[in-house]
Amino acid sequence: MSGGAGTVTAAPVFILLGPPGAGKGTQARLLAERFGLVPLSTGELLRAAAREGTEAGRKAQAVMEAGALVPDAIVLAVLAERLARPDVSRGVILDGFPRTAGQAEALDRLLAGTGQRIDAAVSLEVDDAAMIGRISGRYACAACGEGYHDAFKQPSRPGVCDRCGGSAFARRADDRAETVAERLKAYHAQTAPLIAYYEGRGVLERVDAMGEIPAIAAQLGAIVERATA
Ligand code: AMP
Repeated sequence: MSGGAGTVTAAPVFILLGPPGAGKGTQARLLAERFGLVPLSTGELLRAAAREGTEAGRKAQAVMEAGALVPDAIVLAVLAERLARPDVSRGVILDGFPRTAGQAEALDRLLAGTGQRIDAAVSLEVDDAAMIGRISGRYACAACGEGYHDAFKQPSRPGVCDRCGGSAFARRADDRAETVAERLKAYHAQTAPLIAYYEGRGVLERVDAMGEIPAIAAQLGAIVERATA
């Protein structure tokens, strides 16, 4: 965001909204690389907590495996810990947060405290029916997290990550078709209402996210450029 004369420019904050499979993670990484922002995925933070076996992580894991939303208190705690690291002063792209009205209000309070504002909340608009296919074929490099897909995006050298050269890949436990159906339900019941919330705040942008990854990235890039000009 740009400040007027005499004001300090605060680090930008972008939000990516959209159902599971809309491409939030992929686009957050591309935008982060292009603009030097920090991609911040609460799903990643919760999976890391689950791997570490912390109490919050164990609680979160059971909820994630059922395809439901993790309680706000746990999500806000892992997020606060991540936001305490100094790199976030470059600006952040929030991927998968906020997901409830309570989280959106908590984010507002947090930003009011740091003098930041939401530069744009982008809704990635997709057809639900296509999401199951998108999610069920996806996997990621175990070392760097680069995303791939059985049908849409294989590494250019089979078995070798394009980004880091790693050779181990993993699929998420909650990417099974039954769990994805629950995740879509949770999105529509609890997260989709945030589209109207951010529209009312005058920061909403809508992007058709059914097309090719580079074309969607170009539209998102234009939004970031406009918002930070
Ligand atoms: P994601 O990696 O964004 O697809 O998130 C995977 C799972 O983590 C979700 O299905 C939820 O169970 C949980 N999760 C991630 N972010 C949040 C959040 N902001 N609020 C509640 N649950 C979340």
